[in-house]
Amino acid sequence: MSIITQGRPRCGRLAPSPTGALHIGNVRTFLVAWLQMRVCGGKIRLRIEDLDHPKHKPGAETALIEDLQWLGFDWDGTIVRQTERYIYYETALKALAPGLYPCYCSRADIQRAQSAPHPGEVLRYPGTCRPFSSGVRPFELLITGSPAPAWRVALTEQEDGRFTDGFFGPYPYRAAELTGDFVVARGREPAYTLAVVVDDAAMNVTDVVRGDDILPVTPAQYILYHRLGLPPPTFFHIPLVIGIDGRRLAKRHGDTRISSYRTAGIEPGRLLSALGRSCGWLSSSEQVNSPLELLPRFSLETIPRTPFVWHDSLL
Ligand code: GLU
Repeated sequence: MSIITQGRPRCGRLAPSPTGALHIGNVRTFLVAWLQMRVCGGKIRLRIEDLDHPKHKPGAETALIEDLQWLGFDWDGTIVRQTERYIYYETALKALAPGLYPCYCSRADIQRAQSAPHPGEVLRYPGTCRPFSSGVRPFELLITGSPAPAWRVALTEQEDGRFTDGFFGPYPYRAAELTGDFVVARGREPAYTLAVVVDDAAMNVTDVVRGDDILPVTPAQYILYHRLGLPPPTFFHIPLVIGIDGRRLAKRHGDTRISSYRTAGIEPGRLLSALGRSCGWLSSSEQVNSPLELLPRFSLETIPRTPFVWHDSLL
């Protein structure tokens, strides 16, 4: 694996949201992201995605960092926090402003307008507010107005396309069918979709490893890269960790928080070994004590294409 990709030095990132404790599901994706950079001598950054969100928990950032360090992860440079980066989001919104329009629809309005439910969690916007607003929109309009509207990208057909996911393979998309005109800000509060693009570009991130639940939003991010004239990273969308009932790992499956395993006296190596086995890097009898020991075994090819079913008996 080369340390250079598309003419740029490799750089990955861990991007947790402080919405709760680190659990087995996040850690598996972080392990892949971390190893992928360490194996080629690239850098790995830590970014806390702490933009305004009703689910953010006080103290979650400190706990996340403690858990990551206990597991043996490290990172390069200083920790980046999205709440310290509004100036960058504002600059991007300024550049995007002419291609945006205001939308006052509620989530319930959008759901009602959808003739057939869309597969997955992505809500497709049917364009309700688009006919009422056209023309060049100065940035000042974006940040005024009460109540603050959502600002949506007016998609064009030329923006349909395809990208090659480093794990998933070719991914052709028609953004109009997938997300519809997507939101980039509410008032001056940037949406996740925009913030991640701005941050990854500013931090020179070349490799984004994340859960495949975000795959349907990736075309929107590609479109933003293009509109902002920024080079997109290579994405690697890794299948999620699920419970034995086939649903995404959550509280209902028991306590899979890293801090709870730690309190129960379980060593980090036992968790890392179980995850290493789930990625096809270790046999059932092999154990490691740190992420570093998994370096010689790392391969994307051995990771199963299907979700990983977690149960504590795997420890
Ligand atoms: N912060 C997001 C999460 O915790 C990840 C976003 C991303 O990797 O692009 O789900």
